[in-house]
Amino acid sequence: MRQDLEALLVLQDRDQKIKALQAQQKNLPREKKTLEDKLASARVVLDHAKQRVKENEVEKRKLQLEVEGKRGSIARFKTQQQQTRKNEEFQAFNNEIKHFETEIQGLEDHELELMEQAEQLQGVAAAAEKDFAKTEATIRDQLSRLESGAGAVQGRVEDLQADRVKQAAGIEPELVELYQRLFVKKGDAAVVPLEHEICGGCHMKVPTQTAADVRGEKLAQCPQCGRILYRVI
Ligand SMILES: [Zn+2]
Repeated sequence: MRQDLEALLVLQDRDQKIKALQAQQKNLPREKKTLEDKLASARVVLDHAKQRVKENEVEKRKLQLEVEGKRGSIARFKTQQQQTRKNEEFQAFNNEIKHFETEIQGLEDHELELMEQAEQLQGVAAAAEKDFAKTEATIRDQLSRLESGAGAVQGRVEDLQADRVKQAAGIEPELVELYQRLFVKKGDAAVVPLEHEICGGCHMKVPTQTAADVRGEKLAQCPQCGRILYRVI
């Protein structure tokens, strides 16, 4: 193979590697965001479970205050009842007291339900806490791997870039320019093999003359896609 084409292939190898690494780098913020979103959703689940425990406590406290208030009312009624001499009034107090006692009973039944619910909710919250801790540890680990991976990728890109500059220096500038134009335009490869008269880039058959040129080690481009062709022995 022509020496300049051999050198171009090395240059192309570096460029392809740089391109792949840069694609990885470009993807990094998205990967990071995905992980961060996952962590945020896990936190929402935990917060929700904790919130339900808190709401239950508030509700219970409200009921207790209501019961205390009604007990206070009963105590007042009883004092007033003792002071009255009218039978009708005495009876009326009795009715009030009974009414409040029934209400207290209802409130206390509800409080019992809430206490049972509290146990359940606390269990759910404890499990959520455990799940969150596990998820958080995993995601933090993945994030730090991503960060350190990114550092390594950047170092590799810099090494490859330095190497490609060295490689390019040994090739004729016009050829490097042609190669670069093609590499940017094609996105994958600018220098491709010609095998059985088929271009390795566009997979079309090249004219006999082009095939002959490649065999004769002349610098030739595929008439279809423009890529530089090299001979495969
Ligand atoms: Zn072609």
